[in-house]
Amino acid sequence: MSNQYQKFFSVLLFFALLIGVFPLPSSAQRLIRKTSIKNELKLDLLIKGGLVTDGSMRAPVKTDVGIRGDRIVFIGNSARKNVTAARTLDAAGMIIAPGFIDPHTHALEDLSNPQRSANENYLMQGVTTVVTGNDGDGPFRVAETLEKWERQGIGINAALLVGHGAVRGEVMGKGDVQPAAEQLSQMKNLIGRAMTEGAFGMSTGLFYAPGSFAETEEVIELAKVVAQSGGVYDTHMRDEGSYSIGLLGSIRETIRIGRTAKIPVHISHIKALGTEVWGQSRQVIGLVKQARAKGVEITANQYPYTASGTNITSALVPRWAEAGGNAELLKRINDPQIRPRLVVEMEANLKRRNGAEAILITRSQDKQLVGKTLGTVAKERKKTPVETALEIVAAGGAGIASFNMSESDIENFMKQDFVMTGSDGSTGHPRKYGTFPRKLREYVFEKKLVTLPFAIRAGSALTAETFRIPSRGRLRVGYFADIIVFDPRTVRDRATYEQPETLAVGMKYVIVNGKISVDDGKYTGILAGRALRKISISKTIAF
Ligand SMILES: [Zn+2]
Repeated sequence: MSNQYQKFFSVLLFFALLIGVFPLPSSAQRLIRKTSIKNELKLDLLIKGGLVTDGSMRAPVKTDVGIRGDRIVFIGNSARKNVTAARTLDAAGMIIAPGFIDPHTHALEDLSNPQRSANENYLMQGVTTVVTGNDGDGPFRVAETLEKWERQGIGINAALLVGHGAVRGEVMGKGDVQPAAEQLSQMKNLIGRAMTEGAFGMSTGLFYAPGSFAETEEVIELAKVVAQSGGVYDTHMRDEGSYSIGLLGSIRETIRIGRTAKIPVHISHIKALGTEVWGQSRQVIGLVKQARAKGVEITANQYPYTASGTNITSALVPRWAEAGGNAELLKRINDPQIRPRLVVEMEANLKRRNGAEAILITRSQDKQLVGKTLGTVAKERKKTPVETALEIVAAGGAGIASFNMSESDIENFMKQDFVMTGSDGSTGHPRKYGTFPRKLREYVFEKKLVTLPFAIRAGSALTAETFRIPSRGRLRVGYFADIIVFDPRTVRDRATYEQPETLAVGMKYVIVNGKISVDDGKYTGILAGRALRKISISKTIAF
C-alpha cells in the first residue's frame, strides 16, 4: 500500500469516528432536511408532457403544468425539479390550454336551475368561465343572483352584465317612450348599484324591445356610470342587417358610445345579417380598425355558424308593433286597420332574412313545428309564410335558427385579432353545445384559417382582458387553474340543427379552479365554478 492510500484511509477513519462519536447536532439535521424539502415541489396535480398553448400567441411548447389548491404554481420540465404530485395526468399527444371564456351566453337560467347548473354543455366544450346577462337581459339585482349561485353551486365560473333592457323595463315599462330626467337618474342608480354589487359591465339589446326604443344619448349617459366602475359596454347592436340604421350605422353608433362615454365597447355576435349586407364585413372591419387606431377600445365576439338563433317575433315583427308588450302586440295583429301594414313590413323582414326556407323552427310549445322551416309549415297550412308567422306569434311565438350569414363574412371576421369566440348559446341552436370545438375542428385543424395559438387566445386571454376578468385566461404561474387538456385529433362538435343538445367530444380533462370537472372525457359531477365579482379597483389590475 502506498503512502497516499494510507493517508486517505486514515482521514476516512477519522471522519467515520468523528460522526460516530459526535453525531451532528439535531438543529443541523433539521436544516439539511428543510433544504431538501425546500427544493421539493409538492403539487396536488401535475399535467405532464402535453403541448402547452398558454393563451398568448407563442407557439406551443412541450412542457408540464403543476397545480396546488386553485392556482397554477409551476410550468416547466417536472423531471428536472424535485416534483411530487398527489395525481399526475398524462397529456402526451394532447394540447394543454387555458379554459375557454365565453363572453356571450344565455346561461343565466341554467346556472340558476340546480338541475342544470353544472353547465355540462359548456364543460364538454372546454369552457370554464361564462359571461351572461347579454342582449340587455341581465338582471339588475346582481348580488342576489351571485349569492344564489354560490348557495346552489355552479359547474363553471360565471360573470354577470347588468341589462339595459331589464333596467329600462323596470323604470319605464315596455313602451316606445323617452325617459324624463327623474327616470334617467333612476336607471343610473340601478346600474350604479349593479356595478357595486359585482357586475362586469352593462349589456344592451338595441335590436330588441324595449332597448330598441332608447336613443343613443340615453345609452351614452348610462354607459358613463358603468365606465366609472371600470366596466365594459357589451351590445347586441341596433341593426346587424338592413332593418333600420343598417349594419354600418350600428357600428358607428357603437363607436360613438365608446368614444363619448369613454368606455371599452364590445360588439356581440358580429355578423352581416342578410344578403343585402353580405360582403360588408370588409367595411365593418375598416371602421373598427379606424376607431381602434384613434384610441377607442372596441372588440367583438363571434360564433362559427351561418345561422343566428333568435325568436320569430324579434326576427319578423316590426318594433312599433311590440310597443307596450305582448298584449298590445296581439291587439295590433287582430286589428283590421293595422294588420295590413304589419304584413307588408313583415314581408320585407322575411326577405331580409333570406325567405321562409331560411327560417328553421327550433323551439315551440307546439312540438309539431320543431324541425320544420317556416316555408314547410306555411305549405302545410296552405297560407302565406307571413300569415303563418303571425299565427305562430299569436300562439306564443317560437325559437328559430335563421340562416342569414355568408361563410366569407364569417371567415373575414374570424381572422381579426380583436374578434373572440362567443357561443351566444341559446336553447335549440347547436352553438350552445358546439361553438368552441367546432372552431378548433373546422377552422384551425381542417381549413387552417387561423392558427391554434390564435384560436386559443381568441377563446381565453383576449376575452379575459376585454372583460377585465383578473388572473384567468392564460396559463401562467399565479393564475387560477382553469385548464383544458384536449386531443387535437378527436376534438369536435356533434350538435346539429336537428340534434342541438349533443355534447361535444375531445376534451380529456377540464379543470376548474384546480378541481377536475371532466376526467378522461367524462363529467365528474362536481360544481367547481365560482360566481365572479368585479372588484372596482380592477381598472388598475395589470394583465
Ligand atoms: Zn344577441
